[in-house]
Amino acid sequence: MRVLLAEDDKMIGAAVVEALKDAAYAVDWVRDGGLAIEATRSESYHLVLLDLGLPAVDGLDVLKTIRVANIKLPVIILTARDALDDRVRGLDLGADDYLIKPFEIQELLARMRAVIRREGSGASPILGNGRLQLDPATREASFVGERAILSAREFALLQALLLRPGAILSRADLEGHIYGWNEEVESNAVEFLIHTIRKKLGALAIRNVRGVGWMVDRA
Ligand code: CA
Repeated sequence: MRVLLAEDDKMIGAAVVEALKDAAYAVDWVRDGGLAIEATRSESYHLVLLDLGLPAVDGLDVLKTIRVANIKLPVIILTARDALDDRVRGLDLGADDYLIKPFEIQELLARMRAVIRREGSGASPILGNGRLQLDPATREASFVGERAILSAREFALLQALLLRPGAILSRADLEGHIYGWNEEVESNAVEFLIHTIRKKLGALAIRNVRGVGWMVDRA
């Protein structure tokens, strides 16, 4: 999953980026509001983490712009403790949730999962198509009796496929779920991850569509 982080505080930003990478998100970090708007126009994200006090364009104006262009893109705002009015305005402008700084990374990750879940296919936290299942909280996957904990990148890849069962995802599609802007994409990374996931879960867990990409079956 690809996440945009708009945060001008270097320490908070760097800590969130590290934690999100460890939790298998591809994350792009921008430090002002104008760049945040540009990024949402040029990339497709599953979620935006939006600081409200941003240089160039204020976070609330970023949120307004995002909502005009994309009704459904989930946004979690990050605010200071004393900024009650801003939090209320943010929620009224269509933010999905908020976190008060300083926050615990574990809570941020849990709220992200909850917002993504609400926006997606309903209340179940488990992604699956019947035979293949994936738990975002633990990264445990199962496929017809095989069970394994996936690495962060294996998880990111399988999650991308399970979010769109029946759709064929190309190498570029999958790379977009796994790597943020500043990360070097290793050649053959996608093939390697497919290989290691199949080794853990069985060869039939992911289907190869020759010359086009990969897919998991619809339920
Ligand atoms: Ca700020």
